[in-house]
Amino acid sequence: MEKLEGSCLCGAVRFSLSGTTSGIYQCRCSLCRKVSGSASNSALWAFGEFTWLAGEDNISRWATPSGFRSDFCRTCGSPLPNPLRDGSGHWVPAGLLDENVDIHVVAQVCVASRANWDDMTATGKRLDDMPDRDTFRELITNAHDR
Ligand SMILES: [Zn+2]
Ligand SMILES: [Zn+2]
Repeated sequence: MEKLEGSCLCGAVRFSLSGTTSGIYQCRCSLCRKVSGSASNSALWAFGEFTWLAGEDNISRWATPSGFRSDFCRTCGSPLPNPLRDGSGHWVPAGLLDENVDIHVVAQVCVASRANWDDMTATGKRLDDMPDRDTFRELITNAHDR
């Protein structure tokens, strides 16, 4: 795909990405609810070139002992992309993208632990929990290509 740009709420941190992406997935686990302040996060995996355009030194990082990681803008608190654990690309919060994109929601994960007020009107394949990494990659990548 062509180059996409994204930025945080205050604009201090900006980035671009190009190449293959997954579809968008939404995770409804308790951690993703906290980090997004909403029913779920909405994120995609980007496998091509990723470049910080501004503000890389304005990123704060926080992680749990189990490896759940949140990178965020030190000024405005927006969640920010971070590298996938296996180094094959980046995790990118979909709401940061600055333009409309032809990328759709393909999966809902951790549906079993969603908030009791979450009416789950979103589209995509529903999974009760988070599958193993390879299964998950296949799910969000192949569903997107179809
Ligand atoms: Zn910011
Ligand atoms: Zn989650």
